[in-house]
Amino acid sequence: MSGTGDEFALKEVDMVDATRCLDTAPIWVQLAGYVPNEPRLSGTSRADLVIVGGGLSGLATAYFVAKAWPGMKIAILEAGRIGGGATGGSTGIVGPGLKMSIRRLRKTYGDQIARVAFEASQQGVNLLREIIYAEQIDCDARDEPHTLAAITHRQRDRMAAHLADLDSLGYTIDWLNEDELVRRAGPGYVAGFSYDDVLLVDPYRLAVGLAKAVRELGVDIHEHSRVLEMRTTGSTATTLSTTSADITADRVLLAMDGYSGKLEPFRRSVIPIRAHVMATAPLTDQQRAELGWNGRGGIIDQRNYFNYYRMTADQRLVFGGGPVVVPTEDPVPDSRSADAVQVRLRREMAARFPVLRDIPVVARWKSLAGSTEDRLPIVAGVPGMPGVHYAGAWCGHGLSLSVHSAWRFSELLWGQADSHLLPWTKSRGIALPRPALELGSRLYVRLLDLADKYDVRTGAVRPPAEPRVFQPAESSTATRRMEVVR
Ligand SMILES: Cc1cc2nc3c(=O)[nH]c(=O)nc-3n(C[C@H](O)[C@H](O)[C@H](O)COP(=O)(O)OP(=O)(O)OC[C@H]3O[C@@H](n4cnc5c(N)ncnc54)[C@H](O)[C@@H]3O)c2cc1C
Repeated sequence: MSGTGDEFALKEVDMVDATRCLDTAPIWVQLAGYVPNEPRLSGTSRADLVIVGGGLSGLATAYFVAKAWPGMKIAILEAGRIGGGATGGSTGIVGPGLKMSIRRLRKTYGDQIARVAFEASQQGVNLLREIIYAEQIDCDARDEPHTLAAITHRQRDRMAAHLADLDSLGYTIDWLNEDELVRRAGPGYVAGFSYDDVLLVDPYRLAVGLAKAVRELGVDIHEHSRVLEMRTTGSTATTLSTTSADITADRVLLAMDGYSGKLEPFRRSVIPIRAHVMATAPLTDQQRAELGWNGRGGIIDQRNYFNYYRMTADQRLVFGGGPVVVPTEDPVPDSRSADAVQVRLRREMAARFPVLRDIPVVARWKSLAGSTEDRLPIVAGVPGMPGVHYAGAWCGHGLSLSVHSAWRFSELLWGQADSHLLPWTKSRGIALPRPALELGSRLYVRLLDLADKYDVRTGAVRPPAEPRVFQPAESSTATRRMEVVR
């Protein structure tokens, strides 16, 4: 690991003139103060397995495969830096749950598959916890709740349906009482519940720590090695080319999620969406007390374009959300739309926490997440390319699901029978010509935002002007080790 902390000096971001706002590195990268420094791929080489993408999905897959198959030659090719995609830009809340509603899952696939799917998301949390403890990854891992909170009665009704569906599958979760809801989420919510078996991590330090662990297991990691082309060579082998090197392998995993670009094999089903996050300067004890929330766990409201927030180890508020954007790949409109969302996000943060109205924002960033119409990931073989697999389109829920898929990939590698019934192991959902998919997604995003505005205008409960004052909670580093449920 090389120390290059100077690149990431913390500066207050000018949030007043939206046209002059520039993105920074995610707060996690700034706080880590270092980045891994892996060599580029060079020359012509061969591997048993090549993984394209150095985010959590690719790293966790390398980890499980290297553990299960010692001696196998594995290479990770990363276009930029390890953890530089959605993983290092995420909020680091590793909890159970899927983006598709449990109701739709039950209706489409039946209760057995719905149960297996939800269980997989919980197993992903447990598997990641196992890795962090086994490899002693220093990533501020904490067992803290993930609280879902309704701003309006309509949202509460949707949550009630969700809880009833979970109950039918055998997972009973109770509503929080009024006091506990305020303690866990802050004022201004009408109802809420928590998933308690949740892990909070610093996602960039997680990626960097996991990269170190896989390197020690003998995996070759190459940064600045963007794959530009893939072609089948021989009967099953695939050759991947960067600008100056080629590597051939019998098995390839594409783990690029929202950053797949032209290599996306499911271009008619998967669309990248851009999400936005900001982080404040460290809060004083007084400011933390006046948040009106105990500062533990991750919180998410129940609009289509929700806000989510959590604290860092050094007591900064990380606040994300606002409308997602379908990027155009033209930098001018893309940076304009990012600025507009960030300005709105800042407003939403001040509305939720009036005490933070004038707090300096020291980081604001955006990352891409692959998304599908049915809001389920795709973990499947790539049609027409023997030996090439795909794991992505996590629809913003990838921190647990990608780890579960990674573990499963290692179990299934080289021909073991697939006894799992997961609904995302086949490509499905709508497949549209790309321009229609992009246009449809943009319209859909706009519609969801309008629906939120109507819902909140007609049904929101305002936070009280003077929220309750809490003693700031000490961050508790997790010491509990969970049994992995398989
Ligand atoms: C703002 C935001 C907040 C989020 N918060 C949460 C959260 O709290 N909890 C949660 O569960 N999920 C969250 N998510 C989703 C989660 O971060 C992702 O699902 C997960 O990190 C995806 O991991 P990945 O490894 O599949 O993809 P990524 O981390 O995006 O990694 C893909 C990598 O592939 C590389 N790549 C792309 N093309 C090529 C190429 N041609 N050659 C080589 N490399 C290439 C990219 O450079 C990138 O590093 C969030 C997402 C966003 C955008």
